[in-house]
Amino acid sequence: VQSVPLKRILALVAIALLSACGGTSNGGAGTGGKIPVVTTISTFNSFVTGVGGDLVHVQSLVPVGASPETYQPTPEDVATLAHARLLVENGAGLEAWLARVIGNTGSKDLVIVVGTDGLPVKNDNPHLWMDPVYAKHYVLAIRDALVRIDPAHANDYRTNALRYLGKLDALTASIRSRIDQIPPNMRKMIVFHNAWQYYNDRFGIETLGFIERNPGQEPNPQQIGHLIDLARSNHLHAIFSEPEFSPKLAQQIAGSSNIHIVDNLYDDSIGAKPEVADYISMLNYDTNVIVKAMR
Ligand SMILES: [Zn+2]
Repeated sequence: VQSVPLKRILALVAIALLSACGGTSNGGAGTGGKIPVVTTISTFNSFVTGVGGDLVHVQSLVPVGASPETYQPTPEDVATLAHARLLVENGAGLEAWLARVIGNTGSKDLVIVVGTDGLPVKNDNPHLWMDPVYAKHYVLAIRDALVRIDPAHANDYRTNALRYLGKLDALTASIRSRIDQIPPNMRKMIVFHNAWQYYNDRFGIETLGFIERNPGQEPNPQQIGHLIDLARSNHLHAIFSEPEFSPKLAQQIAGSSNIHIVDNLYDDSIGAKPEVADYISMLNYDTNVIVKAMR
């Protein structure tokens, strides 16, 4: 008489165990049982793997080398996002195209991290991740989301996040010591698009101007003339281009102001080369380019 309820209890326990196992590997179609995470830009992938390590599989919607501001999403993006458990976006107006993609997936249990939530956005400029101190905020939000999605590995996520935050602190200190080598009156930049506001504010560099006022909108001759005047009057040694934009305009301004260095900086996208293939390498590379150009 007593064996029947016991069997029932065992069966219930078995079902509970099965669904618990399913909970961590569910949705991992094509990701080898790892938690499928989608980011908007490749620069955020480092934050996700920094926290998730081998427990996550991450891919970005905007391809390496493309611009998020002018990105046109594809039907594959909808399919990619439909399989994701976590989406990491920037917010602050960077990904105007994203709401439509999310709407088309019909996904109900997608967890969304908006990296800039709770951070001070200046002048509608969305590039807050370029400040490694603000990047820590993105990492913490990703950590909390992964702990919520996969509580069984909460300790892993917390330990990994702590380690990655330490690396960001070391990066910040290292950038500061390198920027400090630039004579103070030379700490001025003309950049391609205004991705450098937060980095520059953090490390004491003045953003003199940017070539594209709005992404995809080329400056008129009068604006180019103004940038040439700025470059001349500030005795700039270098002007910066970006791999996702044509260097033509930067070269034109440089040529008219006797500037011989036009170098690429990476910001909205990591690069394919190993020295710019993750967030920390990218900011190290950029900082070296900036210091070399301004000294
Ligand atoms: Zn940008």
